[in-house]
Amino acid sequence: MSDLRIVISGAGGRMGRALISAILDTPGLALAGALEYAGSGHLGEDAGLMAAGRPAGVKVTGVDAALPAGDVVVDFSTPAASVGLARRLGASGTPMVIGTTGFSAADLAALQEAAGAIAIVRSGNMSLGVNLLAALTRRVAQTLDESFDIEIVEMHHNKKVDAPSGTALLLGEAAAEGRGRHLDECADRGRDGVTGARKSGDIGFASLRGGSVVGEHVVIFAGPSERIELAHKAEDRQIFARGALAAARWVKGRPAGLYSMADVLGLAD
Ligand code: NAP
Repeated sequence: MSDLRIVISGAGGRMGRALISAILDTPGLALAGALEYAGSGHLGEDAGLMAAGRPAGVKVTGVDAALPAGDVVVDFSTPAASVGLARRLGASGTPMVIGTTGFSAADLAALQEAAGAIAIVRSGNMSLGVNLLAALTRRVAQTLDESFDIEIVEMHHNKKVDAPSGTALLLGEAAAEGRGRHLDECADRGRDGVTGARKSGDIGFASLRGGSVVGEHVVIFAGPSERIELAHKAEDRQIFARGALAAARWVKGRPAGLYSMADVLGLAD
């Protein structure tokens, strides 16, 4: 069988480099392109040298040069770049895996529209552990009534630009689903000053930033006189890279539509 040819979008970023490195180390996968935006200092560099210290024979380019080469595009960039790319890929039919976070409601609607033409796997967290945690969170939220307050605490490195993290929102959505609600109706995303008492049924978020923390999430169910805490700690970006590459293998040949990592991992109810 021929290698799966993968184009990385956001190639020069932390995740982009982790993905390129993982592709070069994985039999059956080939790096077909490495995208950066016009004006990036990485344009023209060998993507393998940039990411893993060994040549890959693939240069970092703008979008026009890299797209025709790939079977699948894996994107960890910025919301605007991801949405623009999803629209473009509709024309070629190339499926896409999106790990980028920080999308607005309008961005998400645009991705949903793009998924009318191509298969897209989108997840705020590509790791097996976090997707299992989401399944557990949904289950616990379903079991406990609203006398248990749900709070989600996350910590990430000091370069992260969006809050709450995409993973915290993914866990919040799982908790809301467990209670038969939409997260938009019950999320409490920022407390400061005299906020008044906590509203029963809300799902609260708190974000910590500092150092080099890859990603930590705790879902707290705080009830009368007892508390349940479900936690996940990411120790290495490679867990996201491995998950994204599993999604790339899975999505090739799928019908158009918007899929999640729960679909890829067989965890969807
Ligand atoms: P990062 O280091 O800032 O990388 C983002 C990269 O995208 C940068 O190299 C950036 O270039 C590049 N970029 C910006 N505009 C672009 C465009 N128009 N086309 C192509 N590339 C473009 O961030 P990161 O830590 O790798 O994370 C990237 C995204 O993935 C974030 O949204 C993060 O939250 C998310 N993430 C998701 C998961 C998951 O499992 N789903 C895991 C980790 C991170 P410049 O730096 O030169 O601007």
